[in-house]
Amino acid sequence: MRIELVNLEHGKRDFAHVYQPAEVGSLDERVSVVQPVSVTGNVRIAGAEVFVNGHIETRAQVECDRCLQQVETPVKADFELQYIGGNEYASSEAAELTEDDMSVSVFDGKAIDVDEIVKEQILLAVPTRMLCRPDCKGLCPDCGVDKNTTRCACGADEVDPRWAALKNLSSGK
Ligand SMILES: [Zn+2]
Ligand SMILES: [Zn+2]
Repeated sequence: MRIELVNLEHGKRDFAHVYQPAEVGSLDERVSVVQPVSVTGNVRIAGAEVFVNGHIETRAQVECDRCLQQVETPVKADFELQYIGGNEYASSEAAELTEDDMSVSVFDGKAIDVDEIVKEQILLAVPTRMLCRPDCKGLCPDCGVDKNTTRCACGADEVDPRWAALKNLSSGK
């Protein structure tokens, strides 16, 4: 969904949309959405700037950092974005205006791309560290099995935890 700024009445417009998971798809190699994504918000033009406020809700699937299993997590986030057209940004007055506010994005001055905002906001809302459970044992570094479900015969498994600390020291990690 793109919101064309020329169509805005009185420089304002509310928007609401529900994206099916397939429309959003995989956001990157780590994150994908598994439920419809609802977005509500409003666009407001103020002089050379455009403000976009809103809220997103969905559920995402994120890879466990240790065992790579998919973990579901709720996503709920509010956003407040500020845009400035490329031309205005180039003029010195606007550059001064935005100097102390690094959250301003430059756009083409014609339309706000809500699809892009939604994808970006989901990625920002997902935890950067994700574990399927606090004590996830992860994958065996030697044979690659999931150590939560499978025991392997690799040496690492047999090492006494008291010696493991020493082993890590000597390997320089
Ligand atoms: Zn895990
Ligand atoms: Zn192994």
